[in-house]
Order: sequence, then structure tokens, then C-alpha cells
Amino acid sequence: MSVTANISLIRERIAAAARRAGRSPDDITLMAVSKTHPPESIREAYDAGVRVFGENRVQEFAGKVDALRGLRDCEWHLIGHLQTNKSAKAVELFHSLDSVDSLKLAEKLDAAARKVGRTLPVLIEINVGGETAKSGVAPDSSALEELMIAAPRLESLSFRGLMTLPPWTDDPQDSRRYFRKLRDLRDTMAARKLPGVSLDELSMGMSQDFEVAVEEGSTCVRVGTAIFGERARG
Ligand SMILES: *Cc1c(COP(=O)(O)O)cnc(C)c1O
Repeated sequence: MSVTANISLIRERIAAAARRAGRSPDDITLMAVSKTHPPESIREAYDAGVRVFGENRVQEFAGKVDALRGLRDCEWHLIGHLQTNKSAKAVELFHSLDSVDSLKLAEKLDAAARKVGRTLPVLIEINVGGETAKSGVAPDSSALEELMIAAPRLESLSFRGLMTLPPWTDDPQDSRRYFRKLRDLRDTMAARKLPGVSLDELSMGMSQDFEVAVEEGSTCVRVGTAIFGERARG
């Protein structure tokens, strides 16, 4: 199947999942995760109406960005772990950073954004499964509390919500409890009405579990393989 056909099928599946949950399909953004895929594939997704893209690595996207200059009104999001020494480059290349996982990184990004006079939208990545190999802050950790408390002074960052990558499974229903956990965490944090923090966005759901994520309140599904096909292993 072509990228275009894949996207239209995914949109239908998102809409059906939204209706099952009594939600409007318009409240869910389809992000095309284009890591490892060439600019031509990204262009195809753009032509099919996708405007939000996710990339995992600063270096890789830097190599593609020139070929993508002609695409108007796109948002490029960094969704992979970022080393603090690449903060300035990330601020230069990306519209948003969806994988903030430490106060130190948030401080570097804030400084880099201030320097170029822009506001950087960010999501905090939560390690819902408590997996040691994964980045993200633990749900009830002091690291998360520190980030929340620091938000008002990080004036060049705009905290928009939470992102997660649940433990890998081949049964999408296994992801449901992790998606619920992220939503519950968001609800609990939102109820505190912390200054400088808005938590409307829940970035959750990938190729194999995005419908479950939509049923559980996702506002952005990050879909790679189901749009572009399998990634080459490397
Ligand atoms: C690669 C990746 C995705 C997309 O995964 P697919 O299974 O290919 O849809 C989504 N989110 C993150 C953080 C990723 O690294």
C-alpha cells in the first residue's frame, strides 16, 4: 500500500476509535513519525494532508531539513531522547520538543529558546512502565515534581502536556492500562492548577496501539510503520 492509502486508512481508524469513545476525531492529531525515512516519503505524507511530523534524532533530521524547506505550515517535533549539548540545535530545527525528561534538559532548552527569542512548546515524557532502558521521568518522582515547580521560571518553554511510550507488546490491549495511567497522572496534575503548566496534550499511541490510545484520551498519535512501512534495522 502507498503512503497516501495508509494515511487515509489510519484516519478512518482514528475517527472510528474516537466515535467509540464519544470524542471528536478533530481533537486527535496524526503525527507521522518519519525517522529513517527519506524526504520523498515525508513529502508524500505531506501531500496526503499530514502537517505534523516526528523525528527521533537531531542529527538525522538536520540531514533532511534542506530537502523539506518547500513544505509550508509543517510542525516538526523531536520525540526522541535529547542530549543537553544538542539543545541549541534542537531549538533551531524543531517546532516542539515532546520528550523532555529532566530539569537539566528543560533549563538548557529554555536558555537556547530565550537566546533566539522564541517560545518552545514542550511535553514531558513519562516512563509509565518504569523500564530502566527507557528515558522519561517516573510518574511519582521528585524529578517530575522539580520540572513542574520550575515551569513558571522557564519562561521560554510552554509546557503543554505529557508523552509516553509504554512497554513493548504485541497485544495493543496491554497498552491500555499505561495509557490510562498517563491520563490519570495528567488529570491529577492538572487539578493542582500549577502556574505555567497547561496539560491539554496527551501524546500516546503508535502504529500498533493508536486506536486504544484514542479510546483512552490521546490527543496526538505518533505513527511511523503503519504509514511508511517497516524501518530498516540498523
Ligand atoms: C519510532 C517511534 C514512534 C513510531 O513507532 P511505530 O511503531 O513505527 O509507529 C512513535 N513514538 C516514538 C517516540 C518513536 O520513537
